Amino acid sequence: MPKFYITTSIPYVNAKPHIGHALEFVQADVIARHRKMRGEQVKMTTGGDENSLKIVLAAEKLGKSAAELCEENSGRFKELAEMIELDYDAFVRTSIDPGHKKVAQALWKACDGAGDIYKKKYGGLYCVGCELFYTENELDGGLCPEHKTKPEFVEEENYFFRLSKYQGRLLELIESDQVKIIPDFRKTEMLNFIKSGLSDFSISRSISRSHGWGLKVPGDESQIIYVWFDALGTYLTGVGFASDQKEFDKYWPADMHVVGKGILRFHAIYWIAMLMSAKIKLPKSILVHGYVTVDGQKMSKSIGNVVDPIELVKKYGAEPIRYYLMKEISTFQDGDFSETKLRDVINNELVGNLGNFVNRTFVFINSKLDGRLAETGLGEGALLMKEIHDLVDLADKLLEEGQLNFAILKILEISSMGNRYFQENEPWKLVKEGDNEAAREVLFVCANIARILGIMLYPFMPCASEELLAQIGEKPGPIGDAKKIAASFEISKPRLLFSKVE
Ligand SMILES: [Zn+2]
Repeated sequence: MPKFYITTSIPYVNAKPHIGHALEFVQADVIARHRKMRGEQVKMTTGGDENSLKIVLAAEKLGKSAAELCEENSGRFKELAEMIELDYDAFVRTSIDPGHKKVAQALWKACDGAGDIYKKKYGGLYCVGCELFYTENELDGGLCPEHKTKPEFVEEENYFFRLSKYQGRLLELIESDQVKIIPDFRKTEMLNFIKSGLSDFSISRSISRSHGWGLKVPGDESQIIYVWFDALGTYLTGVGFASDQKEFDKYWPADMHVVGKGILRFHAIYWIAMLMSAKIKLPKSILVHGYVTVDGQKMSKSIGNVVDPIELVKKYGAEPIRYYLMKEISTFQDGDFSETKLRDVINNELVGNLGNFVNRTFVFINSKLDGRLAETGLGEGALLMKEIHDLVDLADKLLEEGQLNFAILKILEISSMGNRYFQENEPWKLVKEGDNEAAREVLFVCANIARILGIMLYPFMPCASEELLAQIGEKPGPIGDAKKIAASFEISKPRLLFSKVE
């Protein structure tokens, strides 16, 4: 059985999760579930990045300890993961996971052993929000390009990682897709960044600047491991590095890291170089998504438009939110969230198109055809079924490429085709005219289309998929099932898949 190891990024837990975190969770989950449908053995790691300075500063502002704040906010991320149906295997909390501490230190020692760590005095412009030193020309009018805040000048003696040594090899790995960056324009961005010249980067800070919070540098109690050098190791922790060799050998390297555009550099460059230095196999791909705006505006606490995905799921249910995030937000671009749009999508697409087609089909079979359909052959519907099978293949391919928004459009198209077929063939008239055989043939085609929808919806809306398939006595299964014609149907209790919202 082929394996597939996928990770979400490990968000800073200095604040509650927002809708952008939900987007990433759902993207990773859709990809993971699709791989399961292909018969792969999937493993997923997620977690909380807790050892950063910004956590300490956020906690101080709230009059709490960093540990308390991590407990609280990591709890919220975990709650979101569960509510939004993220099918993860490991949730690594970097400040308390005992396995993770071992990983961060082992990684450090391996890079040190390779001669890639050295100590030097350094001064630079530091953005706490990014946990990153910036050079003057990387700033945007003197401000951090991510946070629009003025970085502070920091000077101290730190450990450095010899990133510059890996410039040539990084270029080659990314250029040749040995580490594949998806989409292409992000790959180009990284290639340009590498070509502009890589400098060694600081991988520790003094214990006083980090307020004593974080993992200590092996053999130097006065220094704390820099947040990225620690946090990236989570991907190793999730599959047993330094603790369960068998598990690690089975699942590593990661097949895909799912990350936001703002942290691509850490993954495509720092992380890959660290692994090369430590002589650990390299991840195969990095899928990069954009940011979510709300009603056309950047989310910000000062505007007060930060959308809490937990509240949203409580109000609308997980699956409509998953559907919205996957369809309305282009996988690789920035996208917008609007509650008004969400309601439109629920009413028009989930209720009006998908739900309507499945329900009218099942209700018709149940009420007009005694709830049973035996194999009738597809008749005139054979051509339509061929087109739908082609759409199944296309959706499968798009899912493989990570083009999630296009994949879901194909599935919606199948539903529209089903609705059109039902409408045009007017089975209710056939029954009225006493031609039950003809009506059975039409419904046999429709029931098979509904079944295909049930199978194909699984990565996007696993509960709706289960609920739909349960009505015909089936369960979600391999993607190949979507191209087999079911011989018979028995429908005893048709139930609505989605409900309208006001
Ligand atoms: Zn910043």
